[in-house]
Amino acid sequence: MKPLIVGNWKMNLLTAEARALADAVVRGAATISGAEVVLCPPAPLLVPVAACLAGTTVELGAQDCHQDGSGAHTGDTSARLLRDVGCSHVIVGHSERRADHREPDSLVAAKCAAAHTAGLRVIVCVGETEGDRQEGRALKTVEAQLRTSLPPGGRAGNTIIAYEPVWAIGTGKTATAGDIAEMHHHIGSVLAGTGERLRGARVLYGGSVKPENAREVLSVPGVDGALVGGASLVAGDFLAIVRSAEE
Ligand code: PEP
Repeated sequence: MKPLIVGNWKMNLLTAEARALADAVVRGAATISGAEVVLCPPAPLLVPVAACLAGTTVELGAQDCHQDGSGAHTGDTSARLLRDVGCSHVIVGHSERRADHREPDSLVAAKCAAAHTAGLRVIVCVGETEGDRQEGRALKTVEAQLRTSLPPGGRAGNTIIAYEPVWAIGTGKTATAGDIAEMHHHIGSVLAGTGERLRGARVLYGGSVKPENAREVLSVPGVDGALVGGASLVAGDFLAIVRSAEE
């Protein structure tokens, strides 16, 4: 399976900037065949970015979805609508949503189930806080999140895990290669314990991945790609990370 590099644009960019960035990524990605690329713009930019990505190898993802198929949920977006406007992927359980919107694992699991029902592939984020790591609970915390954030209907083909240590997101700090290897190995064992269901699901690393550290991070055993925040906002930086994945 090719490595997967996902750009999470978060709450950044306006329409013209988003189009320019998507066009630049498409141009660069056309010369790279050894990695898959997904761009996740803010919800109102999904439609213009979908137009930029149409007919290209770069896929579209959303940053969140609601757990219900439709209904009275002002301000939310259903997974069905995301699929309808051209998304193939959706991020769920990002630590910023878990913190800003107090999203518990049970809600993350319900969102995953809705996304699967809509035919989307989910990118489920898990990761420990700095306190968890300092107190030696990192592996246990992530295992617990995995066991309760994934719905029973998930399969390796429609579920991607993103291991993102919370303390490494947007901070410029990155986990050591040893810590990443240990966590990815642990996640792989938990997934293997689900039998055929999630065995072999891709596991991405996220947390201040930049062109300077991408090669090292992406060569860690068990790392199948990266979820990239800040560096995905600069086409040259993002494409450099994609090229590192290809290598
Ligand atoms: C993220 O938002 O998932 C992320 C990893 O951000 P950054 O790359 O900026 O740390």
